[in-house]
Order: sequence, then structure tokens, then C-alpha cells
Amino acid sequence: MRDHLSHSQISMLLRCSEEYRLVYVEGRPRPLVPAIMLGQAYHKALEFGFKARLTDGTELSVAEIRQVTNDAWAMAVAGEEIAWNGAKLDELRDQAATLAALYWQQVAPAVKPEAVEVRFEIEVPQVDLPFVGIIDLVDDGTLVDHKTASRSWSQTRVDKDIQAAAYLYAHWRQTGELASGFRFDVAVKNKKPKILQLSTTRSEQQLLQYERLLQAAWGQIQAGIFVPNPTAWNCTPRYCPFWRECQEGQT
Ligand code: SF4
Repeated sequence: MRDHLSHSQISMLLRCSEEYRLVYVEGRPRPLVPAIMLGQAYHKALEFGFKARLTDGTELSVAEIRQVTNDAWAMAVAGEEIAWNGAKLDELRDQAATLAALYWQQVAPAVKPEAVEVRFEIEVPQVDLPFVGIIDLVDDGTLVDHKTASRSWSQTRVDKDIQAAAYLYAHWRQTGELASGFRFDVAVKNKKPKILQLSTTRSEQQLLQYERLLQAAWGQIQAGIFVPNPTAWNCTPRYCPFWRECQEGQT
């Protein structure tokens, strides 16, 4: 039973509303993929490190962050149904640890954590369900989301990104004030991994535009209009778990 809306739901609805219907209306399971597990272990390590700094000033070493990532990986994969598709577990675990260590070495020293893993739940005018989410980190007033990616992100992408709009909107509705900004800290899984920091902001007008997007999305969900999108980036046998059924008109 759906009891809230979130950025990931809205993002899926925009990408392919048929996929949204299968997951959030019909409740079909979506097997986890290795990239998600890698991201989870990476996130957990940074969460642990910043919480330690915030709560009692403990500063984890790079070696400890590596160890936390390895432990988080073990916990993430235990008992989960994961579509490994030939991926090598040890390599992925080491990749997650390398990225977290790089972040801890290059970016974390300058971070001033004010809050870590902050849950929000807001009411949106004309939307019957609360809009909820979790902000990974508040760094000196800036909302931060940690990402892992296989390619570099551009400033254009960040300036158009609806997660930034979603979280800035939630902060604005919750506090009545515009946040000083939003930043994606992106760990790029190149041969030579790197961490990018890309900042963006939204005006009040842009946040109201996001509110209209939420209202329209809710109207679409209420109306039960779900359109398959064969042009979605993930509309392939590898990235959409419903691909075969969908191609055969069996969904
Ligand atoms: S196969 Fe394509 S159209 Fe069908 S649900 Fe998946 S992404 Fe959507």
C-alpha cells in the first residue's frame, strides 16, 4: 500500500510510467543490481565517518573508512536477491572501498557536517500523500547527496537535476527558508577514480515549478495513466527487469 511519494518514485514515473505502475501499483519486486550494492556500501561508509565526526569529534582514518566499507558491503549483500549478471563480487567491494577512501582523503577533511542522514516529510498542496526523503549530509548549510557514477557528471546535468529541486523544495517547505545550495559529491568509477563536487541552486520560482511537477505527477497516478516509454535510457534487457514481458505485451 503506497503511503508516501519520494524523489525516486517521481523519477521513475517520469522515466517510464509503465515501470512505475509495475513496481509501485502492482508491487512487483525489482531485483537489486551490483551498482546499487556498491553505492550502498559507499554511502554507509561516509555516513558512518561523518556521524562519528559529528557526534563526538572522532576522526576515522582512511584505513578505517575502507574497513567500514567492506563491512557495509558484507551486510548489504547478505540475504539479498541480487542480479549479479557475471559481476565479480570482490572487485566491486574493492571498488566501493577505493572510492570511499578517496573521498575521505580528498573531500571529507573540508566538510563541516551539521547533520547526517536527515529524514524529511512534507505536505505538498493538492497532493494527498506526504513527500519524504533522506538528505545524506548537510555541509555548512549546503545539502549534499553522495553519488557513485560510471561517468563524469556535467554542470548542465546538475542544474537540471530534479533530485536537487526535490530536496531544495522540501527544505524550503519545511523551514520556510531557501537552503544556501545543493551539492552532488560524485564518485566516478573510472580506471583512475575521482570525486567531483558539483553545486547548484534553485530560485523560489523554480521550486514552485517543481511543486507543479509533483501535483501533475500525483494527478497522473490518481488517474491511473501509465505509458510505456521505449525511449527510456533503461529500456533494455539489462536495465529493466520487466523488459521481456513488456516487449511481449505480457505485463
Ligand atoms: S521495458 Fe521499457 S517500456 Fe517496458 S517497463 Fe521497462 S523501461 Fe518501461
